[in-house]
Amino acid sequence: MDEAVRLRVALELPQHSAHSTPLDYLNNTALSAGTLVRVPLARREVLGVVWLGEAVVPAGVVLRPLSQVLQALPPLLPAWCALVEFAAAYYQRGIGEVALSVLPPELRKLDNAQVAQRIAKLRKSIASAAAAHSPPPSPSPSPALSEEQAAVLGQLAAACAEGAAPTVLLHGVTGSGKTEIYLQAAAQVLAQGRQALVLVPEISLTPQLEARFQARFAGRLIVSLHSGLTPAQRLRSWLAAHLGLADLVLGTRLAVFASMPRLGLIAVDEEHDPSYKQQEGARYSARDLAVWRGRREGAPVLLGSATPSLETWQRASQGQYLRLALPSRVGGGALPQVRLVDMNQLPQGSGAAVSPALLAALQDRLARGEQSLVFLNRRGYAPVLHCADCGWKSGCPHCSAWRVFHKLDRSLRCHHCGFNERVPRACPSCGNLDIAALGRGTERLEEQLADLLRHPDGTPARIARIDADSTRLKGALQAQLNAVHAGEVDVLVGTQMVAKGHDFRRITLVAAVNPDSSLFSSDFRAPERLFALLLQAAGRAGRDAAQAAHSEMWVQTWHPRHALYAALRAHDFAAFAASQLREREMAGLPPYAHLAMLRAEAKTVAAAHGFLVAAAECASNTPGVESIAVYPPVPMPVARVADVERLQMLVESPSRKALQRFLAQWLPALHRLRRTRDAAEQRVLRWAVDVDPLSI
Ligand code: ADP
Ligand code: ZN
Ligand code: ZN
Repeated sequence: MDEAVRLRVALELPQHSAHSTPLDYLNNTALSAGTLVRVPLARREVLGVVWLGEAVVPAGVVLRPLSQVLQALPPLLPAWCALVEFAAAYYQRGIGEVALSVLPPELRKLDNAQVAQRIAKLRKSIASAAAAHSPPPSPSPSPALSEEQAAVLGQLAAACAEGAAPTVLLHGVTGSGKTEIYLQAAAQVLAQGRQALVLVPEISLTPQLEARFQARFAGRLIVSLHSGLTPAQRLRSWLAAHLGLADLVLGTRLAVFASMPRLGLIAVDEEHDPSYKQQEGARYSARDLAVWRGRREGAPVLLGSATPSLETWQRASQGQYLRLALPSRVGGGALPQVRLVDMNQLPQGSGAAVSPALLAALQDRLARGEQSLVFLNRRGYAPVLHCADCGWKSGCPHCSAWRVFHKLDRSLRCHHCGFNERVPRACPSCGNLDIAALGRGTERLEEQLADLLRHPDGTPARIARIDADSTRLKGALQAQLNAVHAGEVDVLVGTQMVAKGHDFRRITLVAAVNPDSSLFSSDFRAPERLFALLLQAAGRAGRDAAQAAHSEMWVQTWHPRHALYAALRAHDFAAFAASQLREREMAGLPPYAHLAMLRAEAKTVAAAHGFLVAAAECASNTPGVESIAVYPPVPMPVARVADVERLQMLVESPSRKALQRFLAQWLPALHRLRRTRDAAEQRVLRWAVDVDPLSI
């Protein structure tokens, strides 16, 4: 045997200890970093990634040998390892945890022979697909570019020619042809023999976009990567990207970690969308990682949005990102006219969800055979049941939240813990038979619209509802969307699921029936999210230029003079952003400050509180704390979920670097703190830090 070498292998360790470093194993030859291996861990054998290929075995140290090298698979490249290492350091997690959580789960189960088999099968299916298509399919032609599109592509090419790959904010109103820019930019990259990565916020948006890319790049391999794939499909897509067989990867946030040896472009569509932030484990922002990755790998990054995040907007304003604009809709289509309905003017206590004026406008669309979208960001029938006699409300016994009434299956369901019961016949506290539904969700809205809306010939309007409840079954969402596209639906009722991204061609009216609640939320990002959502929703109307002239966005509000609605009426994102940024600057909030949130969960408030207080004490002894503000612990917005109390503590600094330096010292100290604390009542069940949290 040759001289044995020590390999450092990144693994997912059973106890979630962040800062767990890769473990050492023995092998008879050195392996390059990025090689996938199987190694013994306690009594199991697990997948790992070689992180450091070779080191001398220190005298007297006994190491276990590797079980197997997955030689069939080319090693992950240094650029991929660098991305994982950066993400782990930035979001304060273990390298192995991040690496393993972003590899396809199926890989964990396979040995070298099985991996070789999968690769052979993939190559064969690609070859046979190519032989089926003879002559090869012809790509759909690209349309003649609008002047604005041509200008944007020209500026992009000029910026790329200057050398360093630019990060670009593509600020284009809805329907301005941003996707066409991604397509053209991708075409150039593919022509150079490189790969393109396109990120979208939601799985529901991938099929339509995939079809567009497939048509344009017929004959090339395009794969998608998202959590809706079966493990086998996900492995196949991942392998195709990793082996360089796929030219284009289309996916949701996890695709930012796709292994792509020839990466030449990253496009992040709807870059402002909150779904780019992972909400568990390593809480990474795929948008931010895309920017980092593009710089590291010399690939331009296109951040597209009609309503950019204020972080991105500010960076573009400061010249860190190149701002390219598509201010008008393709084909001269107008943006929908925004109409505000002042709900204060309605007769007192009418309790109607839909004002008479909006109802008339919906009726109008029906008569013309056009579609409408009615948007309400609350699913279920009613958010709470209430007994007027004794004041009972349908609270969840396990959470500090109401249980939502779902009429279809007559259930009271907690949207936080899932606790589900049949609706009681009478008030559980006083026996009153007359318990009332308070407020309104999509189910009730659908019912009311079905009662009210008729075609001119008297037949009822065809109403479809799309929300998390109606799309629970696999394929249901796609089927419902197809029905909308095919014109089999008159009125689409839905949550934010339908407000984003979809290229509906027949919708000429979009209505938000009750969007006010976000105006006065304690979350500083709520207005930004509301504005983006409403402008996105508005963007679903009048996408067909022929109908654009009479397309409308209706907003029912009790605060018609609010500045947010004024900016919405004018479709003026810049004005909205400027006013928000002024407020943020005065309040010392992002992008003018950098935040991390420490969250703790325990059986009792005292335990969670005790942990956070101890963490604050620990912070005061951590180097670099001078440039950090640590706020007192407070309950999370939903303080108790599934009988677990949740508290959080905000940590803030004007400097990102200072915050990062501080966290890198403070968190290891917190791990030690937890280990040394033995008083049982001080036990926390879980704690985690969220760097750049989205909601606070
Ligand atoms: P966005 O992504 O900005 O909302 P899209 O790229 O989806 O806009 O474009 C909106 C519609 O206009 C799509 O149906 C697209 O096919 C079409 N389109 C885009 N660019 C052009 C063009 N140059 N000529 C004709 N149609 C175009
Ligand atoms: Zn009662
Ligand atoms: Zn609950």
